[in-house]
Amino acid sequence: MTKIGLIRCEKNENRCPLTGCLTSLKGCAQGFAGYDAAEIAGLFTCQCPGNDLVEKAKILKSKGAEAIHFCTCTFAHKESNAWVMGDGFCDHLDDLMAQVATSAGIPCVKGSAHLPEAYQVETVVPG
Ligand code: SF4
Repeated sequence: MTKIGLIRCEKNENRCPLTGCLTSLKGCAQGFAGYDAAEIAGLFTCQCPGNDLVEKAKILKSKGAEAIHFCTCTFAHKESNAWVMGDGFCDHLDDLMAQVATSAGIPCVKGSAHLPEAYQVETVVPG
């Protein structure tokens, strides 16, 4: 059983209750397809421009998280009924993920639910 930390963007926190992310996590689908079994260790909302995100990641790690997933809406957007790459909520997600992975010492995974077609899940491992 792999314990997962989830980080969502504050720009979406009042519109999305994370139903798709949590369902995908529970079912090891979409961004969580690489796990045989997974459970949520905890989740945080990122606040621009990433305030205290390393500290939040360290807390998730202390609660047992073995990887942190960043929600798909941070780097992709929805068109009609499909999610496509780009124009997500965050314009510096890759930098944030690298900072968190290195400073908190935990793999950071880019994606959760409803992945864009053909997108291969990217993971940043601690340097
Ligand atoms: S830094 Fe990026 S992920 Fe975090 S709240 Fe701002 S836009 Fe969202």
